[in-house]
Amino acid sequence: MISLPLNLDSSKSIVLNGDISISHELGISRMDTATTLSELQEIYKKQYRNFHEIGQTSAKERIAKLKRLRKAITTRRKELQDAMWKDFKKPAAEVDLSEIYTVTSDIDFAVKHLRSWMRPKPVRTPITMLGASSKVVYEPKGMALIIAPWNYPVLLVFAPLVSAIAAGNTVMVKPSEFTTATLAVIRQIIEEVFDQKEVAVVEGGIAVSQALLELKFNHIFFTGSPTVGKIVMEAAAKHLTSVTLELGGKSPVIIDETANINATVARIVWAKFINAGQTCLAPDYVLVHKDKKGAFLAALVKQLKKSYGEDASDSADYAAIVNEKHYQRLKGHLESSLDKGSKLVHGGVCKTSEKYIAPTVLEDVALDSALMQEEIFGPILPVFSYTNRNEVTDLINSKEKPLALYIYSKNKKNIEFFMANTSAGGSCINISAIHIGNPHLPFGGVNNSGIGKSNGHFGFLEFSNQRGVMRQYTPSIIQLLLPPYTHLKRRLLDFTLRWL
Ligand code: NAD
Repeated sequence: MISLPLNLDSSKSIVLNGDISISHELGISRMDTATTLSELQEIYKKQYRNFHEIGQTSAKERIAKLKRLRKAITTRRKELQDAMWKDFKKPAAEVDLSEIYTVTSDIDFAVKHLRSWMRPKPVRTPITMLGASSKVVYEPKGMALIIAPWNYPVLLVFAPLVSAIAAGNTVMVKPSEFTTATLAVIRQIIEEVFDQKEVAVVEGGIAVSQALLELKFNHIFFTGSPTVGKIVMEAAAKHLTSVTLELGGKSPVIIDETANINATVARIVWAKFINAGQTCLAPDYVLVHKDKKGAFLAALVKQLKKSYGEDASDSADYAAIVNEKHYQRLKGHLESSLDKGSKLVHGGVCKTSEKYIAPTVLEDVALDSALMQEEIFGPILPVFSYTNRNEVTDLINSKEKPLALYIYSKNKKNIEFFMANTSAGGSCINISAIHIGNPHLPFGGVNNSGIGKSNGHFGFLEFSNQRGVMRQYTPSIIQLLLPPYTHLKRRLLDFTLRWL
């Protein structure tokens, strides 16, 4: 008889559907598919009974699962494109590039390297521990929970899932409640490949998420806002569960006086306006050297017209805002910023029926406005000019550490200065956002923008316990040091402290 390490009292009144039943005015579709408390408990029990077995699977077995997952995703390419178009008009090309390809390349990378990641790593043993050998063994943490946001609904479910499976965990996955069409396809994919006792989808909003957070997991991987990240960490602390928090923040772009403006503009337009700015890594605001500001703004407007036309609402290559709540938030921030005296350089058009906000560029945005106090997470780009480098670092360092910081420059000294005088989860020089796609780099934030790292081997480690193992082959020095601490033994310690 297995006793569960938590209080699963089904008489407890958690109203799992409560947060989503009346949410039409917030732009949230009603989710009749939300997981009930008893279903959630059933899944948890199944995984609790199974996690040891899953943890002992070989590299070959895990690779086979990853390959099946890859196939299930790629065979549903069209369904995923259609679902994301339905959810927030996400262009098919962006689904291919930033959701499907990113996940399949993650899987390919894990398949290629998993055997070596899982292999115990011998390490050196100090001479004072003579006659022993040491190694690091990678064991799965056990039962994992993944909570994902809506903005890259496929990528942010499957990328951590790949790491969790590679590391040999059971997983309960809660995708976002906002992207319901995509969620239905995600469920099909996961149910086709996995039994619930290994990987299961849990559907619902905040109440379901909170019910999940009451359970005792061995690791929680959360992607979302810093505000909810704190709630997750607090819940995890009750069980001393380890967490990976992939959060957001205000990621600045610095463009110095030596930057190549045309190349810079193309790269910023891509990183900022893909997914209509609803990207954790999107440039949040730009700090451009005063000598380049005019050229930068002119080239930016030209490129925006070239990429999305005079009216981006006609463009099939420009996404909508995900729901009414976020649309109203962005529209409100834009209007109040204009009221406070910011200058519209481009865009500014909002269409409520389509949840459309034009690619928008602003100048002279007040630093105390919501646009500069919160993560923008939408297609609005404030641009500031600077005269000397300290103004840049002072502004950036007055805010929380960002998820990313981008520098456009040809000047080595400037690049070194900006790197040395700021801190960020990650950085790109003369490019933006694509560092997330390099599986050799750790991806994640720092403090307010996140805790822990994902991607490739870093993701595997996040879901693994690095167990240090020492084996003694010969008589140990400890035997020589057993009490009573005779004069000879103390002399031996003197020698150790002095020479070893
Ligand atoms: P969110 O934090 O509102 O929601 C994320 C998940 O948490 C959802 O599944 C939601 O159901 C759940 N949730 C929401 N409120 C909760 C609560 N009170 N208790 C428990 N669970 C709750 O985030 P979002 O709006 O879906 O996504 C936007 C945020 O995510 C932005 O801040 C963005 O920067 C960040 N983000 C970060 C990354 C990254 O990799 N670092 C990637 C994408 C998005």
